[in-house]
Amino acid sequence: MAKFEEYKDIYVFVEQENGNIAEVGYELISEARKLVATIPAMGYKVVGVLLGNGIKDKAQEVIAHGADKVIVVDDELLKDYSTQFYADALTQLINKYKPDSFLTGATPLGRDLAPRVAARINAGLTADATKIEVDQEEAANGVALLDVTRPTFGGNLFGTIVCKNTRPQMATIRPKVFELAPVDESRTGEVEEFKPTWTTTEPEVFVEKVIEKVKGDVDITKADILVGAGRGAEGCLDLVQQVADELGGVVCCSRAVVEDGYMDKDRQVGQTGKTVRPSLYLACGISGAVQHCAGMDKSDMIISINRDPQAEIFSISNMGFVGDVNKVLPLLVESIKAAKS
Ligand code: FAD
Repeated sequence: MAKFEEYKDIYVFVEQENGNIAEVGYELISEARKLVATIPAMGYKVVGVLLGNGIKDKAQEVIAHGADKVIVVDDELLKDYSTQFYADALTQLINKYKPDSFLTGATPLGRDLAPRVAARINAGLTADATKIEVDQEEAANGVALLDVTRPTFGGNLFGTIVCKNTRPQMATIRPKVFELAPVDESRTGEVEEFKPTWTTTEPEVFVEKVIEKVKGDVDITKADILVGAGRGAEGCLDLVQQVADELGGVVCCSRAVVEDGYMDKDRQVGQTGKTVRPSLYLACGISGAVQHCAGMDKSDMIISINRDPQAEIFSISNMGFVGDVNKVLPLLVESIKAAKS
């Protein structure tokens, strides 16, 4: 078992792509600052962890956003995200520096990386969290135990999870949950480089093609016809777009699709997205969570396609098709074309 007294500070994984830092990293640093401020007697620092290639010059930006220290792992093998090399580097880094807690954005990358590292180091991980607090009773005894809260049962309930028996306490946190603190360019901090030891430099997985996500260039609130993509349609977004094109409509989506990185937030319908009221809302592979329906249930006509006959979306639909979107959408494209000719 880990000797807890050796573990210290709150570490934040600062995700970047081509040197562009994902905002969620700064949101977590901002929140980590608030957390360490609740336990001043423990003298905890906020440490940013930056992995990539040619990214050393980004460390000061991380400090300006609130980190006391940044550990940079700059290596050619980390140029593009690879589960294998990122997990290898991070596991070694955690074993060396011994963070008391380790926070990662619940982005597609973070959701891939954090559980793998947690499994390797045998640490507890709370996934998809929306709130973090330090248990003040434990803090009085010199233990910075995190109470990490996450939604469950489709967001209808919240559960608080505590990783008492392992270190670091790991969590992935949804983007846009925590506010960004103001940037202070005059902040100073320590920058340290860490060199991992590679057991192999042969990649297990190769990237064949990078598909650009749909960029936010339309206002979904103004569209008369909306074709909504849910997690069930993530594998056939080209078909969803084809249906929208044939209908003269616009593609929008559920929050799951935004969180999984397929579409921009400005396409999101729902409680934390946009409220829409088109003549037609065609929901493809959307379960019908209350938070989604809150943004589209006033549409004049709702038609849904879902392979689960019990899906909640059917309860607010004027018409529903039980089936696989991969099969139904091509038929729909053909029949719209036929109807138009
Ligand atoms: P899932 O719930 O994963 O559902 C996927 C559906 O696709 C399932 O019903 C499945 O049967 C179906 N499916 C799978 N494969 C296929 C296939 N091949 N063919 C046909 N059907 C298939 N969500 C929003 O959308 N907007 C918001 O603004 C929003 N705000 C939120 C705010 C809070 C505070 C919280 C806690 C949550 C919020 N959510 C929001 C998230 C919401 O609770 C749901 O998690 C989300 O809407 C689920 O998206 P989904 O239906 O695409 O994915």
